[in-house]
Amino acid sequence: MKLVTFIDDSQTLRPGVLTDRGVVDLVATERSLASSVRGILAGGELQQAAAAAASEAAVVVAKPTLRAPIPDPQKIICIGLNYRNHAIESGMAIPSEPVVFCKFPSAIVGPEQPIGIPATSAEVDFEAELVAVIGRRGKQIAEAEALDYVAGYTVGNDVSARDWQLLKPGGQWLMGKTFDGFAPTGPALVTADEVPHPEALAIKLRVNGETLQDSTTRELIFGIAQVVSYLSQVFTLEPGDLIFTGTPPGVGFARKPPIFLKSGDVCEVEIERLGVLRNQCV
Ligand code: ZN
Repeated sequence: MKLVTFIDDSQTLRPGVLTDRGVVDLVATERSLASSVRGILAGGELQQAAAAAASEAAVVVAKPTLRAPIPDPQKIICIGLNYRNHAIESGMAIPSEPVVFCKFPSAIVGPEQPIGIPATSAEVDFEAELVAVIGRRGKQIAEAEALDYVAGYTVGNDVSARDWQLLKPGGQWLMGKTFDGFAPTGPALVTADEVPHPEALAIKLRVNGETLQDSTTRELIFGIAQVVSYLSQVFTLEPGDLIFTGTPPGVGFARKPPIFLKSGDVCEVEIERLGVLRNQCV
């Protein structure tokens, strides 16, 4: 199932399911369902949502405007340097434990929404990433059970202002990673049953049609179960939490000469089975 969030005529966010017939409005179809994708996850309502989407009475929205599938996550956790050749191109050591940083929910934008290039940065970069979406609450999760806590996957772009990420005091990446609009995600949350091998997906990023990242999630250093288990040793994972799992090589700042994003550029991140996430810089 491909869960989406769309806006209705009154600009209210609503949960839906992307089907061959179009986007099914879940709440209009089945009033007992929660009114957000995060609520559907938290309530354990995935089966009811799938049944509503498949029913003959499903209400299909003609021209939905999609937003991020989880527009309001409680947490956005990111894993840095999680592909060997990206660590090498960044001039950093290959990590022996996951490198963890975060973004704030205010950084979330959805498909086709603009990425604002801040006037205060001259080094805005792109990072294609597989994003795991947590489906149920958990703490101190064993690695063997960790994938049971993942509802599914979506496409992300870990947009990064390198001058703010790498050149500020304190060694923190946070400021460079969490400008408003720096966490594009979508177009859909594809449930885990449709992604049987999340660590064997082609992942690509194009800027203005030119392919700049082209890899596979087979290259992840720390796998999804390992990361979920590791994070949950410290804090409680909640339904709808997003985990950006790291980017493959090819990012802009490591290129010679470097490539940075500018107003008008179009980023497309494509992950096998998950779709294409397209955003224009403004
Ligand atoms: Zn990243």
